[in-house]
Amino acid sequence: MADYSLIIVGGGLSGLAAGIRYARFGGSVVVLEKHAIPGGLNSYYFRKGYLLETGLHAMTNFADPRDKRAPLNRLFRQLKFSRNEFVTHEQYTSLISFPGKASLCFSNNFSLLQEEIARHFPGQIDKFNRLLAAVNAYDPFSPREWISTRSVISRYLDDPLLIDMLLLPLMVYGNSEEHDMDFGQFVIMFRSIFQEGFFRPDGTMKDFLTMLVNKLIDCGGEIRCNCKVESIGKTDGKATRVRLSTGEIITCDAIVSTIGIPGTFSLLGLPEQSDNYAGRMTFVESIYILPREAKSSLKNDNTIIFYSLYDRLHYHQPEEAVDTGWGVICFPGNFHGLAEEDHFQIRVTHSANYDLWHQASSSEYATMKEVWGRKSREVISKIIGNYEQNIVYEDSFTPVTIERFTAKARGAVYGSPVKIKDGRTPCSNVFIAGTDQGFLGIIGSMLSGVSIVNQHILKNI
Ligand SMILES: Cc1cc2nc3c(=O)[nH]c(=O)nc-3n(C[C@H](O)[C@H](O)[C@H](O)COP(=O)(O)OP(=O)(O)OC[C@H]3O[C@@H](n4cnc5c(N)ncnc54)[C@H](O)[C@@H]3O)c2cc1C
Repeated sequence: MADYSLIIVGGGLSGLAAGIRYARFGGSVVVLEKHAIPGGLNSYYFRKGYLLETGLHAMTNFADPRDKRAPLNRLFRQLKFSRNEFVTHEQYTSLISFPGKASLCFSNNFSLLQEEIARHFPGQIDKFNRLLAAVNAYDPFSPREWISTRSVISRYLDDPLLIDMLLLPLMVYGNSEEHDMDFGQFVIMFRSIFQEGFFRPDGTMKDFLTMLVNKLIDCGGEIRCNCKVESIGKTDGKATRVRLSTGEIITCDAIVSTIGIPGTFSLLGLPEQSDNYAGRMTFVESIYILPREAKSSLKNDNTIIFYSLYDRLHYHQPEEAVDTGWGVICFPGNFHGLAEEDHFQIRVTHSANYDLWHQASSSEYATMKEVWGRKSREVISKIIGNYEQNIVYEDSFTPVTIERFTAKARGAVYGSPVKIKDGRTPCSNVFIAGTDQGFLGIIGSMLSGVSIVNQHILKNI
C-alpha cells in the first residue's frame, strides 16, 4: 500500500486548497513544500519587526455572503469554511489613470465604472454595454481554441485608449501572455475584478495561511515544509513515488503538482517539452513603509492605481531591466473597516526583464536595484506626491527573487502562456493545478486546486 493516496507538490494556495478538498473526503494526503513556510507567491516574511506580505495587493472575486452562486462563496463551501465568519474589507475605489489623457474610477459597485465610461467616453458607453452583454453570455470554462481578446473587443469598442485602459488591470493581475490575452481569460478577469471586485481578509496573509493549514490538519491531511521534490518515479508508466532532495522516497497513488508546467515536466523527466512553456511577463515590486502622519500629504484616496504614462499599453517584457512607464501603486491599508495603524504601506509594481536581472553579477544586481528603485520613486512621486523623504523602511524583489522563492521559471508570476485547462499531463495520474491550469490570483488558484481534485481524484474515492 502506498504511503499516501495523493501527494501534492507545492504548498501555495492551490496546493493547500487541493489538500483540504481531498482530506475532507477522508483521502490520505500530504502537501510537500520546499520552503520553510507555505504560501508560495502569496506568503510573508519579517524584517525589522514588520510583517511584509509577498504578493497581496487585494483579493479578487468579492461576493456578499448571501450570494450562494458566487465563486468566492462556492470555494468556501467546498473547503468547509463558514463564509459568514470570514470577515472581509472591501476596497475604497481604484483608478485607471493615463495621465494627461483620461482616468476611470471603479469600485465593487459595477455601475461606477459604467458611469465613468459614460462621462469620459460618451460615444463608447452603449458599445461597452454590448461588450458587457457578450461577457455575461460567454462561458470561459468550455473547451475551445485561443481567441484574441483584442480582436473581440474591437468588434464592440472603437476607442483604442478605452480598450487599453480596460485591459491594464485585467492584464497586470493575471495575463501570462504579452500584448494580447485569451478571451476566456479576459472574461474571468473582467468578472473577478470589475464585476465582483477587490477585498482583503481581516488579518494578514499569515493569518489566512494559518487558517488553511489548520483546516488541512483538522481534516486529517498533512503538510511537510522544507521538502523539495526532485523527481517523480514511475512504474509501468504511472507515477508511484516522489524523491525528495534529501533522498527520501514517498509513495503514492496520484500526484497533483502546483509548481507550474515547466517544473512539473522536468520532475517527470520531460525537460525539452518544459522549455516551450516558459512565460515572459515578470515584475519588480517595492514595498515602502511610512509613518501614518505622512499619509495626509499624498494623493491616497484610492486602493489601487493602475497607471500608464504611454499613449498605449505596453504589456510586454521591457528592453530595459524595468519599465517605470506603467505600473501599479497599491495602498494595502485602503480597505473599508481596517483599523488605523501607526504605519502604512505603499506597494509599487513594474514590469521587468528577467534576462537582465538574471545575468547581473551580485554587485551589478545591487546597483540595478538602487538605480531602478530611484527611477521608480521619481515617477510614482509625480502621481501620488512625494513620499520618499518619509520612508522608514523599504524592500524590493525582482524576477530573480520570484524564481528563487517559487520556482516559477523566469520569475513568470502568471506562469506559462500556454495553459493546461483539464490539468492532464503526459503521465495519466499526475495533474497540474494552480497558475498553469489557467486560474490566477489567490481565489483563482484555490478554485483550481479544488476543481482538479474534484475532476480527477475524488471520482476514484
Ligand atoms: C508580486 C505579486 C503580487 C500579487 N498580487 C496578487 C494580488 O494582489 N491578488 C491576487 O489574487 N493574486 C496576486 N498575486 C498572484 C497570486 O499570488 C498567485 O496567482 C497565487 O498565489 C498562485 O498560487 P499557486 O499555488 O498556483 O502557485 P505558487 O504560489 O507558485 O505555489 C507553488 C508552490 O510550490 C512550491 N514548490 C516549487 N517547486 C517545488 C518543489 N520542487 N518541491 C516542493 N515544492 C515546490 C513553491 O515554493 C510554492 O510554494 C500576486 C503575485 C505576485 C508575485
